[in-house]
Amino acid sequence: DYRRGGYHAVQISDTFKNGRYVIQRKLGWGHFSTVWLAWDTEKSLYVALKVQKSARHYTEAAMDEIKILKLIADGDPDDKKCVVKLLDHFKHSGPNGQHVCMVFQYLGDNLLTLIKYSDYKGIPLHMVKEICVHILVALDYLHNKLSMIHTDLKPENVLLLSMLDPSKDPRYTGASPLLPTSKSKPKPEQDPLETIESIQSTNGNLTKNQKKKIKKKAKRVAQKGAGEEASGDSESSMGLPGQEESSHEAELNGNSAEQRKKSNRGHSPATRQNLLKSVDAKCKLVDFGNTCWTYKQFTSDIQTRQYRCPEVILGSKYSTPADLWSFACICFELATGDVLFDPHTGDKYSKDEDHLAQMMELLGIMPRKITQHGCRSNEFFNRNGNLRHIRELKVWPLNKVLVEKYGFGEEDAKDLADFLVPILEFVPEKRPKAAQCLNHPWISSGPRLLEPSVPSGQVQAADSEACDDTGAEIDDRGG
Ligand code: ATP
Ligand code: MG
Ligand code: MG
Repeated sequence: DYRRGGYHAVQISDTFKNGRYVIQRKLGWGHFSTVWLAWDTEKSLYVALKVQKSARHYTEAAMDEIKILKLIADGDPDDKKCVVKLLDHFKHSGPNGQHVCMVFQYLGDNLLTLIKYSDYKGIPLHMVKEICVHILVALDYLHNKLSMIHTDLKPENVLLLSMLDPSKDPRYTGASPLLPTSKSKPKPEQDPLETIESIQSTNGNLTKNQKKKIKKKAKRVAQKGAGEEASGDSESSMGLPGQEESSHEAELNGNSAEQRKKSNRGHSPATRQNLLKSVDAKCKLVDFGNTCWTYKQFTSDIQTRQYRCPEVILGSKYSTPADLWSFACICFELATGDVLFDPHTGDKYSKDEDHLAQMMELLGIMPRKITQHGCRSNEFFNRNGNLRHIRELKVWPLNKVLVEKYGFGEEDAKDLADFLVPILEFVPEKRPKAAQCLNHPWISSGPRLLEPSVPSGQVQAADSEACDDTGAEIDDRGG
């Protein structure tokens, strides 16, 4: 992808916009872009710089994303809606073409990284609830106030607000330069090495030998200098294409969730624990590159595989409930460490059919109005509403899965299933709205820091309108 029309090869200490932004390290990547931690020399703060691929299609997508990001920022002047803020944008010319660059407030790790740090065992339920509140506040804002559908909700697109100063992130100490390398470099408040030691020694997890190793490595890196940490070939740089496999990537490569787990590497258990502790669980939605409107959509091909809702698989109309489906998948994944649906192609059936089968095994048989009305319904269902190639469904309801497969206590399992099953309703119009989810006891009994845009009194009315039984697309405008 590092060729004409593709990614721009970024090097540590490169500058953008006439020297204003100085690259520090890689934060992540996606199909459209690579994303970098940069030092803003004008405002003296860390920012995230998203450098889009340069082909026309990507440039147009970036321009659309910028328009959407501006609307999102305009409606949220107090920064309370749990959505990332666009700070600046510009174009950058390089050997592979002209790249649209977007500058965002710097956020921390994405939720997939958090799940990895739990060793795929799931994170504590109080943290899951806290994260859910933030995602729901963002969805309520997008759906209800802006009539927007995110369409690509997945753990990689939800970012935590890390408490760690990015220059002191222990994962990068000894692996890459932590501070700006230009003359604009801010003075470190504290030696980053001291910081890891103080963090880790509070846990008592570092042996003398380990400390010695870290110091030695840090010294080696300091001697090597900043410029060698190139984007394309460094082992230590985070999120290189091909290194950290996103679920989307797994889908494209035909890989399973199991293989996705193998990309969990690099960090010691102590570091993981510290990073988990550094999270106060506030988070924000990012990546509005595929966002559309309830009244204007660009494609029927939306959502990353594991988070894709039945109406999209079946080629029916979709709207804001599609995001709620993905939200429920994320919530389950946070709580258990496992993807909720992980479909595969079989000898006799397609991945889509397997996906529908997994949904029915968990949630029951799909109603006729769902199995008959999508433009692809005939591909999967016969006239009796049975799948064409998968006959035997092994029913395993969610609350039982939570107990029997994931070792949940009966009560926790029941409470979580009570919250999730209505959101995983096959009829999209019957799924609760984000504001209603915020009022569900599973969420509202926990600490509540943010308010939905719809007061609970109005929620009932919104519900009865949304649940009309015609199967027509709901229209959230003005709701
Ligand atoms: P996709 O393939 O999902 O469409 P994309 O190319 O549109 O991805 P983003 O999802 O916007 O790119 O960003 C890619 C990754 O970069 C994110 O998953 C996240 O890990 C990291 N990232 C993005 N924005 C920020 C930010 N503001 N702060 C910190 N990291 C970020
Ligand atoms: Mg993304
Ligand atoms: Mg994107």
